[in-house]
Amino acid sequence: MVAENMALLIGFWVCAGVSLFLLVAGLTAMNILRWKAAQKKAEEEYQASKLTIDGRRLPPIGRGLCIRCQKVFDQVYHMPDHTRVCPACYDALYPTP
Ligand SMILES: [Zn+2]
Repeated sequence: MVAENMALLIGFWVCAGVSLFLLVAGLTAMNILRWKAAQKKAEEEYQASKLTIDGRRLPPIGRGLCIRCQKVFDQVYHMPDHTRVCPACYDALYPTP
């Protein structure tokens, strides 16, 4: 009787341990999948922020002085010829069709 009870008790604790392990593994896998989806979404948003509405690639963005209107902006486009223009001046220089 005592040996049977011991076997039942050991079986119960083994089942509980395996269940706990599976639960933690499942939650971790779910978190990894959610993190991967969030990473993909953020990457797509970042890539989209570098394109105009019609799909042209925008120059790199940084803080600086607009060479055209002579004002400081948090975001100016660093042009390939090393000049910097603000988004408003960029739209005036290169209007979207
Ligand atoms: Zn400007």
